[in-house]
Amino acid sequence: MSEVSMDKVVSLAKRRGFIYPGSEIYGGLSGTWDYGPLGVELKNNIKNLWWRMFVQDRDDMCGLDAAILMNARAWQASGHVSGFSDPLVECKKCKRRFRADQVEGKCPECDGPFGDVRQFNMMFKTQIGATEDESSVTYLRPETAGGIFVNFKNVVDSFHPKLPFGIAQIGKAFRNEIAPRDFIFRSREFEQMEIEYFVRPSEWEGAFEMWRKNVHAFNEAVGIPAQSVHELEVGDTDRAHYSKRTIDFEFDFPFGRKELYGLAYRTDFDLAAHSEVSGVPLKMVDGEGEEPITPHVVEPSFGVDRTILAVLTSAYTEDELGGEARTYLKFNSAVAPIKAAVFPLLKNKPELVAKAREVYAMLKKQVPQVMWDDNGNIGKRYRRQDEIGTPYCITIDFETLGELPAKGESASGGKDTVTIRDRDTGEQERVSVSELLSRVV
Ligand code: ATP
Repeated sequence: MSEVSMDKVVSLAKRRGFIYPGSEIYGGLSGTWDYGPLGVELKNNIKNLWWRMFVQDRDDMCGLDAAILMNARAWQASGHVSGFSDPLVECKKCKRRFRADQVEGKCPECDGPFGDVRQFNMMFKTQIGATEDESSVTYLRPETAGGIFVNFKNVVDSFHPKLPFGIAQIGKAFRNEIAPRDFIFRSREFEQMEIEYFVRPSEWEGAFEMWRKNVHAFNEAVGIPAQSVHELEVGDTDRAHYSKRTIDFEFDFPFGRKELYGLAYRTDFDLAAHSEVSGVPLKMVDGEGEEPITPHVVEPSFGVDRTILAVLTSAYTEDELGGEARTYLKFNSAVAPIKAAVFPLLKNKPELVAKAREVYAMLKKQVPQVMWDDNGNIGKRYRRQDEIGTPYCITIDFETLGELPAKGESASGGKDTVTIRDRDTGEQERVSVSELLSRVV
C-alpha cells in the first residue's frame, strides 16, 4: 500500500494549480472538480498519449467524438434505464443517504437505523427542448461506450473495415454517484477513454489478451509503476450478465486498492440490443461472399481522472536535497505539464533577461510546454518547479553572455552555454544552447 498521504496530494494539487474543487466560491458542488492551468496540461498529455498509442499509431483503430446527449432509447437498449443503479439506503433519523454496499447496520453519522434498500438510478436525467413530457426526457451519458455502438454502422459504411477493428472515444461521462469521494477517484462528472474492439466471435480471447497487455503498456507510458497495479479476475457472480470475462485493473491508491480500469468481453450484447431496439441491423460483412455477422466486442475502459490520480500519487515524492526537505512530483517527461523552465539568473539585468527570452522563445517554438520563471531567487524557482514536476530548469547566466565568470569560479563552458538542472538529482550541468532542444524533448 502506498505511503503517500492523500491530504498532501490534494493540497499540492490545489496550491499549484492542478485541481480545484468545483464551484468553490459558492461553497462547492459535491462530486465535481475543476482542472487548473497545470491540471489541464497534464490531462491533455495523458489523453494525447492514449490517443496516439491506441488510435493514431495503429492501423486497426479509428476515433470518434459522439454527442453527450443521446436519444433516450439508446439507454433503454443498453440496459442503463432499467439497470444502471446502485443500492441506496436512507437513515431514518438524519435522512442522510448512503450506498448500501458501503455501510453496515447503522448510520455512520448518527447511529440511526436504516430504512429499506432501494435501487437508485445513477443517470442524470434532463429535458430536451421546450416541452416537458416523457418524450423530451434524455440523460447525460453515463459512459462513452454508447456513442460508439450507435455509430458502428456509420463507421462500417464509411470505411468498410475488416475484423478485427476498434473505435475509440475520449469524453465526459456523468454519474449521479450516491457517495462521491476520494478526491477525483469517484466524482459525478468525469472523463473516460474507451475502446470497443470488434472481433469475430471465435477470436475474442486473442483480442482480450492483446488489450490486457496494452493496459499495462499504457500504465508504463504514463509512469504508473507496474508493482502498484493488480489484475482482479472478476468472478461469475460479480460480472455484468452480458460479460463472459472481466478483469479489473486495480491500483494501490493511498485509500486502498481500488479499480483503475476495466477490461470486458461483452459478447454481441450491445450491438444485438441496439439493433433490436432501433430496428436497424448492426451487422457487417467480413469476408468476401460471407453472410453478414454481428461482431463480438472486447472493451478496455480507462478513467482519465483515475489515471491522473494514480499518476499524481505515484509521482509524489518527499526527499532531502542539499540538507533541506523538499517535495517534488517525479513525472516522466511524457506527462509532465511543463517540460522545462527557463530562468534569467537575475531579473534586473536586461542583458540576461534578453538572452533568456531568446532561449525561451527558441525552445517554446518546438516544445510549447515550456515555462518562463523569473520570480524570487534561483533556489525558490527550483523548488517551485520541483513541486510541479518540471524535469529540467535552464538558467541563463553571465557565462551565457560570454562574460568572464565571477572571481573564484572557473569557466566551464563559455559563451552560449547555460546550466541545465535535473529535477530528480538536483545536479547541474553546463551545456551549449544548441544542445538544449535534444535534452528537453
Ligand atoms: P466503480 O466500481 O469504481 O464504481 P465501475 O466498475 O462502475 O467503477 P466502469 O463502469 O467500469 O466503472 O467505468 C469504467 C472506468 O471509468 C472505471 O474503471 C473508472 O476508471 C472510470 N470511472 C467510473 N466511475 C467513475 C467515477 N464516478 N469517477 C471517476 N471515474 C470513474
